[in-house]
Amino acid sequence: MKIVKTKEIKAKDVSEFADNVLQRFLDRTILHANSEIPAFFVYIQDYAWNAFLNHSINVYKEIRHEAQGIFTGHYLKDQYGEFIVATNYEEGYGVSQSAYVEMSEECLAMISEKCQIDGTLMLIWAHTHPGFGVFYSGTDYNCLRTNFYKPYQIGIVADIIRKQSKGYKVNNGNVDEFVDYILFNYESSLLSSPYGVCPIEDERKSGWGIRIVRLFRGTK
Ligand SMILES: [Zn+2]
Repeated sequence: MKIVKTKEIKAKDVSEFADNVLQRFLDRTILHANSEIPAFFVYIQDYAWNAFLNHSINVYKEIRHEAQGIFTGHYLKDQYGEFIVATNYEEGYGVSQSAYVEMSEECLAMISEKCQIDGTLMLIWAHTHPGFGVFYSGTDYNCLRTNFYKPYQIGIVADIIRKQSKGYKVNNGNVDEFVDYILFNYESSLLSSPYGVCPIEDERKSGWGIRIVRLFRGTK
C-alpha cells in the first residue's frame, strides 16, 4: 500500500475550530465526567462507527469475508494533551478473502484525495475478523507499522460476530495494544465503549447494540 506523502502534521488547537462537532471538545472535562484524560485519546463519532459495522456486516453476509476501511477526521490538542476526532468512515475495497484483506492503491489514493479536499486526515485503519476474535496477525502488524504509524493514527480490529474490538498503536516503531478509544454521540455529548459493557446505560441503543453510556475508564 502507498499513501500520498505529506509534510509533518501537527495537532491543531481545538479552539481554532468553529465546527459544531469539534466545539463539543472545547472542554473535555465535561465529556470525561471529570475523570483523568489520557495524554492521547481517540473519539469516534458513533454514526461513523455504525457505518463501519454496517459495511462489515454487509460484506460478511454477501461473501463471508473480512472488510476494512479508514476513519478520517481531525488531529487536535488542548491543555490535557492531543486527541483525534474521527468524523467519517470510508469503505475500503481491494482483494479480500475470508481471513485476509488488502486495500487497493487506487482506493487509498481516492480516500487521500478526499481528505485533502475536506482538510481531514486518515486517522484509523479498521478491519474485521468475523467470528475469529480480536488480535493482530503478522500482516496486520506490518500494515499498521508501515502505513498507519503516525502519532495521530491507530488501528482497530473488530469481530462483528463476537461483538468485540481491540485497538493498536505504533510507538517508537513497536505496535502496542491501545485502549483509549471511545465512541462519541454528538446530540447527547455522551461517550460509549464499542461493544462495551458499562455500568450506566439507557435505552438509546443502536441496532448493533452500542450502548450510550457515560464514560467509565477501564470498562473497554
Ligand atoms: Zn487481521
